[in-house]
This record gives sequence, structure tokens and C-alpha cells, in this order.
Amino acid sequence: MKRPVTSLRGVGQERMAQLAHLGIFTIEDLLLNRPRRYEDRRHFKKISELQKGEPGTARGRIVALGLNRFRHGTKSLFEIVLDDGSARLHCRWWNLPFMEKYFARDDEVFVFGKLIQMKPRTMDHPETEVIEGGEESFIHIARIAPIYSLTDGLPQRWLRGLTWRTLEQYQAHLRDSGPAPFDASSLMRDTILPSHEGAVRMIHFPEELSDVEIARRRLALDEFVAFQRQIRARRKKFHANARAIPCGGNNHLMKPFLAGLGFKLTEPQTRVLREIRADMSGAHPMRRLLQGDVGSGKTVVAACGALMAIESGCNVALMAPTEILAEQHFANFKKWFDPLGVRVELQTGSRKAGKLEAAQSPVMVTGTHALFSSGFELPKPGLVIIDEQHRFGVAQREQLVRKGNYPHVLVMTATPIPRTLGLTFYGDLDISVIDAMPAGRGTLRTFVRTTANLPKVYDFIREKIAAGRQAYVVYPRVDDSGEKELKAVTAEFANLKKIFAPYSVGLLHGKLSGREKEGVMSAFRANQLNVLLATSLIEVGVDVPNATVMMIENAERFGLAQLHQLRGRIGRGGHASFCILVSDAKTPEARQRLKILEETTDGFKIAEADLKLRGPGELLGREQSGMPNFQFGSLTDDLDLIRQARDIVKGEKL
Ligand code: ADP
Ligand code: MG
Repeated sequence: MKRPVTSLRGVGQERMAQLAHLGIFTIEDLLLNRPRRYEDRRHFKKISELQKGEPGTARGRIVALGLNRFRHGTKSLFEIVLDDGSARLHCRWWNLPFMEKYFARDDEVFVFGKLIQMKPRTMDHPETEVIEGGEESFIHIARIAPIYSLTDGLPQRWLRGLTWRTLEQYQAHLRDSGPAPFDASSLMRDTILPSHEGAVRMIHFPEELSDVEIARRRLALDEFVAFQRQIRARRKKFHANARAIPCGGNNHLMKPFLAGLGFKLTEPQTRVLREIRADMSGAHPMRRLLQGDVGSGKTVVAACGALMAIESGCNVALMAPTEILAEQHFANFKKWFDPLGVRVELQTGSRKAGKLEAAQSPVMVTGTHALFSSGFELPKPGLVIIDEQHRFGVAQREQLVRKGNYPHVLVMTATPIPRTLGLTFYGDLDISVIDAMPAGRGTLRTFVRTTANLPKVYDFIREKIAAGRQAYVVYPRVDDSGEKELKAVTAEFANLKKIFAPYSVGLLHGKLSGREKEGVMSAFRANQLNVLLATSLIEVGVDVPNATVMMIENAERFGLAQLHQLRGRIGRGGHASFCILVSDAKTPEARQRLKILEETTDGFKIAEADLKLRGPGELLGREQSGMPNFQFGSLTDDLDLIRQARDIVKGEKL
């Protein structure tokens, strides 16, 4: 199955190169090459029945054909005219003169395409296949035929024939070398899934169109099982090899910390803390993802984890994605840890912590990526906390972990990760969820408005400022470093200053230096600025409880999960909060999308919707690498299969 396609009869160097273009290198690749679509060649429309604008298949005999060259031979039009007895169909190809050599008068041809006009009936650039007799013709006609993606010079018919013959020849191999068998039938409630080899045959040559989905599901399950097995093996290997310093602590710092907080941990916070303690007490390094909406209190829980490590005589690093956040964590942790006599340091691009000696008493270092570069070394790392992990990506995470010499790792994210993704991408992390907010939070309501409503929105914001509150205005950022964007946001800044005068407006964007940013933020925190205009920089982590209004401009440019995170900046204090999404998006889809945010504040629901609308790449961030490329499985639709795969693999002996 892993043999190269050249071991098949009829595949020489030229065909090999063409197949390679399609990502087909081995026999297995060929057998798992998913058809792009199917054509039911048992039933045809008459040419006279084809409707303008609707894709349809017909067949007919070539009654005329010809190639016209014009503009001194630089342009061409090739045309064939088909007749099936009911009507004639003109098929045209522009500037593809070589099409001429594929057709001859009286050929029978299948065509698939859309009529662009009725008089005469015409299709431009349809897909075609000349019908030939011969012993294999039953593969191509009078059945549901698979249509594959092609590349220059590779005929549909040839690829279909090759696939058919290879299926015949490798039937037995397929049975033996498919994924290790497992009993899928007992797991499928409603449908009996075919065997792996049955599904491979079915995906290429289904008896009925409904077979295609059944076969796809079976092959998707096989992919998910293989992937889960891979994760499991990786975890097992990690567990066998990696040792960590047990960091359960003895409570001598934790006790006064919790007593001094001024609030009690919520039930989910307590539960998660127990999970973390159980992990960190062991000799295996913790690998845990902590999920919770913005403001659900992840940082406090992480601080408890940090104290356990410090109580155990180890150092702790907390890495944030931006300098602002690193500084905010630094301020927070200082406030919390100073009274306990625990040293807190900051390490960013613009600020360096002093050299740390292994012999010194334990220290908590907050910082940016600079923590792991620029020669900084954390001796005796007990715990590494990574905040807002989706900005780093899996590959980077692995890199940190390796460098960190197997400390315990806690990853915090406010991006609710839909379960399908959680079970696949984070399969090598244990997951904890804080799924309830601390009590005493004000309500948060969200409204979608158009720019025509802006005067009213401004009035509303002024009203809230008059009552002592503060507001964010968020300006969409496509590229925070672009000159054009800087100009646009600066113009909006001047505009807002006029609108909100005499109230004060501050500006925060990616071009400011770390110091300038911190200056603006601390002025806003101290309520010296009433309104803060910001690019989506503030998306992560900023905490100003008195800010209760957020207006987001051009909201349609953001993803739902991102908008949800943004609005998590408000609703943090006791006052009622309001998020106004301003958008002139006209399409019903765009409006429907934003409405989801009006309707729910459940981050998981929003993430699932986002996943459906935009796909996993967008949700996890562009830099996300290590995404498995499932050929048949869908991360948006196959949650049940992903679960089943996990259950199957869990039940297997290693
Ligand atoms: P996250 O990191 O999940 O966004 P934080 O840990 O920053 O959330 O918490 C948000 C705010 O809520 C902080 O001001 C924090 O002190 C406060 N907080 C955290 N846990 C509780 C709790 N159990 N009760 C009341 N307030 C809490
Ligand atoms: Mg946070």
C-alpha cells in the first residue's frame, strides 16, 4: 500500500508527475483520493430540459466542432455542438486551443456545467468526458461515476480506470493493511458502517448517492482513530520519559494568599485547583489546558499553582502574548505576592529581570516570549504558565516545553475551544474548564447597530461617562503595523475627540512603544481617560472594571470568538455593561452572524458557531501549525465520530 504508484501498470514517469501534483504518491494515496463530486450517469437530463444557471449533466453526440483564432492568433475560441435528439448544446472554451485534440465529430460526450444562455443553449468551460466503448466502459457509464480533481493532461477517465483496477488488485491488501481493526458497528447507533475496505470501494464507486456519506463517515472514523492513537502513543512516550519535580506545596503561602484575596474561589475554580494540585504533586510533568471565559478567574487559579511550586522550592514563569499583558500580570502578582514575601520579576523585550541564581529563594517571573529567548535562563523551573495560548501555536508550545526541562505546564486560554477541536488538537493536554463567572458581576448586553445609529450610540456613551463609567471604542485591525491603518485609526481618534469633548479620549495601537502603551493604559486604569480608542490589541487580558461600554466598529471584520473575547473586557465590575457592535454589513449571513452575539454569552456556543462559519484555521489562529489534514473527517460536523474514536482508542490496550 505504501508502494509508489509507478508500481502500477500504466503509470510511467509522466503520469507519476501528474499524480504527484495531486498529492498522490503511493497506492494508498490513490485509494484514499477522495472524489471531488459524483455524477449520476444512470439518469440524464435531456439537453432541452437543462435550466439556465443550474448545474446539470447531459450527454450528446458531437455534430459540429471548430477552433477560431483571432487577434493575430493570441486569442482563441474552441467550440463543440452536441445533439441528443432533444436540442443542441454549444460548449465553448476560451484560449485553450489544445482542447481541439480531445474531440472528434460523432464522439459521444458527457458534459457537466451551467447554461449561461438559452439561445443558443451554451455552456462555457464545462467538464466533459468522451464516452468510449470497450471492456471497462461499465465503470464510466450507466452508473454513479466519481469525478476527481485533475491536473493538466490527466484525463478523468484514465484516473477512474486506474482507481478501479487498483481497487480490484489491492482488495486483499486493503483488508490487511487498513487501520488496525476495531469494532465500529457496536458504536454506531443508527447506521451500520461498512468495513474499511468496503468504505474505500464505496467512496469511489457508490451504488447510491447516499452511500457516499456512509463511506465518508467510516473513513473519517478511521482517520480520527489513527490520530487519537498517535496522540496516545506520544503521551505514553512522554509519560515514560519525562520526569518533573513534584510541586504539591505545603500550603504555607497558599493559605494566607486565599485569606487575603477578599473573595472566595468559585466552585469551578476550586475544582480546577484540585485538578492542578493532583497533577503537580506527581512526578510526571503536568500538561494542562485551562479554559474559561475572560473574567472567569483563571489568573487567580494560576497564581495558586504558582504558589504550590514556590512552596516546593521551585521557580515559576508566566508568559503572556504582549508586553501590556505581561506588565499587567506583573502588577497583579506583585500586589498578591509582595505581602507573602515572594519575589516577582518582569522580563520583556524592553525590561530585563536581573540574573537569577539557583540558590536564591524562589521567584515568580512574568514576561513575554523574551522569557525564553535573549539568554534568559530560569533555574529550577517548577511551573510554566502560558497565558492566552492560541497566540503561540502548538509548535511554539512544544519548543518552550522542551527548553524548560520538563516543568509542569499550565496553558490558559479564554478562547472557548469547541469540543471537536479540544479533543483533537489538545488531545495531548488534559483540559480543565472554569464554566461559571464569579458572583456579583453586572449584566452584559450586546446590540448590533448600523452607522446610521451612531449619533444615538454616542449619546448613550456620553450618558454613561457622565455617570462615572468609561468606554472602549475598538477599531478593527487588519495589520497593526500598516501605515494606512495607522492613518485611519489616527483620523478616527481626531473624530472621537471632537465627538466626546469635553471628555478625554486616549489612543492605543500597535505602533506605540511599550512605554507609551503602558502610559495610556495606566491613565485609562486611573480613570484619567474617559474613552479609550484601541485596535484589537486590547483583545487579551486588559482589566478595567469601571469600563462598562464597548463600541466595536466594523464588527463584521472580526470573528465571533474574537468579538466575544473583546466584549469580555467589559462586564467585569458590578455595573451593567453594554457592547455595541457597529456594522453596515448588508448580507443576511453577516447580520445573522452578529446576532448570535446578541443572543448568547455562552463562549462555547459562540465558538461552535464560529467554527462552522469560518473553519478551524481561523479559529485557532493562522500560526497554528500541526493541524492534521483530515481527508474525510470534518472538525465542524463530526463531533460524534471524534468522540467515538476517542472511546475506541481509550478502550485499547497499549
Ligand atoms: P481571567 O484571567 O479568567 O480573565 P481573572 O483571573 O483576571 O480572569 O479575574 C477577573 C477578575 O475577577 C479579577 O479582578 C479577579 O480578581 C476577580 N476574581 C477572580 N476570581 C474571583 C472570585 N472567585 N470572586 C470574585 N472575584 C474574582
Ligand atoms: Mg486573563
